[in-house]
Amino acid sequence: MNTIWIGTSWKMTKTLAEGREWATGLRGHLESAHDGRAPAGIQPFIIPSFTATTTVRGILGEDSPVLLGVQNAHWEDAGAWTGEVSVPQAKDAGAQLVEIGHSERREHFGETVETTRLKVAAALRHGLTPLLCIGESAEVKEAGGSSAFILDQAAGALEGLSADELSRVVIAYEPIWAIGEKGRPATIEELIEPFAALGAEYTGRVAGLLYGGSVNLDNAADLLGIEHVNGLFVGRTAWKLEGYLELLRIAAAHVAG
Ligand code: PEP
Repeated sequence: MNTIWIGTSWKMTKTLAEGREWATGLRGHLESAHDGRAPAGIQPFIIPSFTATTTVRGILGEDSPVLLGVQNAHWEDAGAWTGEVSVPQAKDAGAQLVEIGHSERREHFGETVETTRLKVAAALRHGLTPLLCIGESAEVKEAGGSSAFILDQAAGALEGLSADELSRVVIAYEPIWAIGEKGRPATIEELIEPFAALGAEYTGRVAGLLYGGSVNLDNAADLLGIEHVNGLFVGRTAWKLEGYLELLRIAAAHVAG
């Protein structure tokens, strides 16, 4: 059985005090329920705002089983890029993973297939896990082009990687029409074909193939049951710690079979 990845991005939410409380609660739960380890077969990860990276790292500790990520990073290591944060800086702050190409960054901040490719390469160069987000719009889906579109996005971002580099990449399929307040939860049936397409190309070659978009406590178990899905990338449901802990329990039940 593959590792099941259960992660959340806090997006642009949480004060430091709120982030501290969430991370302290998670650490306490793992200590009391799992001897400080991750639940068996599960790789937890959390992606706070940049401002909370060092604070959360301090709370989790250096040897935490929870991977810590950032929501973006520049492809250059340093330089005149006002407002940006580089992968070495993210690593210096305690990050081990870099989220790349979320649809909100593609829509609002000009992220392209080319910039996702540069960022994946930068993360790998510095030993961080790239978490590549891909997903099609409602228009592309309605035209029947979902699988071709997401395969193109992934191929463009992962072009030129060696098998070893590819094996360190995590892909999250997040259809835009299913994300956030404006999205609607995908049905399981709608996800079979895109995951069959992604699985045919990437299962066994990447570290994880995750689903994200309106994951909630009612659909999480069924989503984990889709062939080729080995993790969930979650927004709103996990912003309250209890939601995230419940997702860990659902994943643990899935692993236990
Ligand atoms: C997301 O934005 O990546 C996401 C999965 O959000 P939500 O779970 O809130 O739809």
